Amino acid sequence: MHIETRLVQIGVGAEDRNTGAVSFPIYQATAYRHPTLGESTGFDYTRTANPTRSVLEAAIAEVENGDAGFACASGMAAIQTIMALFSQGDHFIVSLDLYGGTYRLFEQVLTRYGLSFSYVDLRDPAQAEAAVRPETKAILVETPTNPLMQVTDIRAMVAIAKKYNLLTIVDNTFMSPYFQRPLDLGADLVFHSATKYLGGHNDVLAGLIVTKGRELSEKVKYLHNSIGAVLGPQDSWLLIRGMKTLALRMERHQENAFRVARFLREHPAVTDVFYPGLADHPDHEVQKRQASGFSGMVSFRVRDAKQVAPFLRHLRIISFAESLGGVESLCTYPATQTHADIPAEIREKVGVCDRLIRLSVGVEHGDDLIADLRQALDASLEASLEAGGCTR
Ligand SMILES: *Cc1c(COP(=O)(O)O)cnc(C)c1O
Repeated sequence: MHIETRLVQIGVGAEDRNTGAVSFPIYQATAYRHPTLGESTGFDYTRTANPTRSVLEAAIAEVENGDAGFACASGMAAIQTIMALFSQGDHFIVSLDLYGGTYRLFEQVLTRYGLSFSYVDLRDPAQAEAAVRPETKAILVETPTNPLMQVTDIRAMVAIAKKYNLLTIVDNTFMSPYFQRPLDLGADLVFHSATKYLGGHNDVLAGLIVTKGRELSEKVKYLHNSIGAVLGPQDSWLLIRGMKTLALRMERHQENAFRVARFLREHPAVTDVFYPGLADHPDHEVQKRQASGFSGMVSFRVRDAKQVAPFLRHLRIISFAESLGGVESLCTYPATQTHADIPAEIREKVGVCDRLIRLSVGVEHGDDLIADLRQALDASLEASLEAGGCTR
């Protein structure tokens, strides 16, 4: 079956023995009656397993071509659950241009437990290999990166990981399994902030993990239950509901993102556009080799930081808000929002400067999005001229 069909059919037939409901029900129950001593229906206590969550977990495992899926309370809960696989003294090689919350968890929390992290530009496999130490346990890849849309060659990371007996862990939030399936490229673990494209409607916070291999699946299952940062039944249902239309949404996100990226490139208020779908994006070819698309995230730099506030103020359709991947277009300012916890000098080094704006291009009509961007950019140029900004 094609992924479009598998997504739409999530949960269909799973309720046949009870009611035949096409939409799988929300099992709002924490405890389950045992038929007799030593017997179980397969459900005992909802932290361990819940029927609605189980349907979701089986679905994400299937669409990512993995062996087991785990639904967590958030993307961060998913990462925390994965990191519990490791022990004091372990070291990790991690994407340099990293989601701010992941960086915060690693540097402010997990370093206190004796884990250490090297942040490396993984676009260059030689740099990744040079960072391997005797105590290195895994390579954690975010691709494309947030917000600069830098692409890491997942196969190249897997080759290094195999050579040194490391795990390859991929944050697949930006692509979703519709466009990219890292387990097929050799990765061991994939996780998502399902809050983003998988949920798709800016209304549910969730994380998903998919594992490859029986031993790893058993370990994560044990940790998922032991830590308990699991997803509740209502949110599991919302996520299933969102995932059914993932294919349709991703196609439209991408179509609109192409249009927006091409428009931004021509606008005099803009100096740089970052979208891996553009043929002259430095990582375009790598992206084409490992994914079937480019998704809906576009970042750009305006000429002058003084343009940022007026640009945001003038947007009418696109909301200035801190998330991505939903049907509604959102605009984020990484310097003070998603990346505020990353020190300014590191931000500048990776290029997340104060002129950078990130767009999560939604599924509205492309003409309306471009009209909104055009009027806000025009207004931002005028405002920065008045404020004595550089407009060239
Ligand atoms: C949002 C996000 C996370 C964190 O997920 P939450 O659901 O917000 O906890 C992790 N990685 C990436 C790439 C994200 O965009």
